[in-house]
Amino acid sequence: MTATILDGRAMAAELRRRVKEDVAELRARGVTPALAVVVLGDDPAARSYVRGIERACAQTDVLCAVHRLGEEATEVELTLLLDRLSADADVHGVIVQTPLPAGIDAARVGAHVAVAKDVDGLNPTSAGRLLVGLSSYAPATATAVMEILRQGAVPLRGSRAVVVGRSVVVGKPVALLLLREDATVTVCHSRTVDLPAVARIADVLVVAIGRAKMVGADWVKPGATVIDVGINAIEGGVGIVGDVDYDAVAPIASAITPVPGGVGPLTHVMLLRNTLDAARSQRLIP
Ligand code: NAP
Repeated sequence: MTATILDGRAMAAELRRRVKEDVAELRARGVTPALAVVVLGDDPAARSYVRGIERACAQTDVLCAVHRLGEEATEVELTLLLDRLSADADVHGVIVQTPLPAGIDAARVGAHVAVAKDVDGLNPTSAGRLLVGLSSYAPATATAVMEILRQGAVPLRGSRAVVVGRSVVVGKPVALLLLREDATVTVCHSRTVDLPAVARIADVLVVAIGRAKMVGADWVKPGATVIDVGINAIEGGVGIVGDVDYDAVAPIASAITPVPGGVGPLTHVMLLRNTLDAARSQRLIP
């Protein structure tokens, strides 16, 4: 069996085209969707992520303003900025680049992003709404995973889904979104005993660990769909690899995301789509 490649770049390009059309329509009605990106410090990975967001905004005509605070900025300074952006009627979406420097609490900070503008699901209220099934923005990466599964027409109802990783930004929201689609969900983490055996039950395996090529062929049931969220710098080299050993797993999976070119490209577009939706609902445009 050779796996179908779930091509995140192609999916992202098509979604960007649609977002751009919708943005043009909104602009014609006098509303320009605007995203504020708050960055603390000068981490190289964050710099490249933010550049990607700026590029995606430019391609779709969404306004993007990056607010940079120095590494020495305090939690109070950060929350004051978030309060100001949350109150600004010309800003429709607000995101904060994570991970935050040590000593700054993401949940406390996230509570200062107005829920209506919380397009990356940072506010604990957004997470709570997701948990109880109320409308909210889920973190963009989790939404990107679900969009790939949707576009790949991967059956979820009644399927066995295994999520490896339980972070607030990826693993937990993905698990909730899969549950919402009637999958039977198992969440694994660093204390899971015999992880490969648990992963092997999966019809749909979502991996968000942050360990290069950790998932080998012995983790994957033949015919499973494998979504690799991992982004790991190649040691001593250039570029990135995922958490899944792609060459080993692709021959036995039925569908798989590559890294790069899988979940990553869709994540930015999900932020833009959420910002567009946020602009519409804040301006009461159906
Ligand atoms: P994270 O907060 O560090 O969480 C990693 C999770 O993996 C934790 O739940 C941890 O378990 C688990 N884990 C770590 N080592 C493990 C091991 N040896 N065996 C089993 N589980 C293990 O990371 P994250 O923010 O979720 O990100 C995960 C990966 O996705 C990273 O490579 C990151 O760069 C990437 N990412 C990609 C995107 C995108 O747009 N494509 C966005 C965000 C993140 P414990 O909870 O027990 O510690």
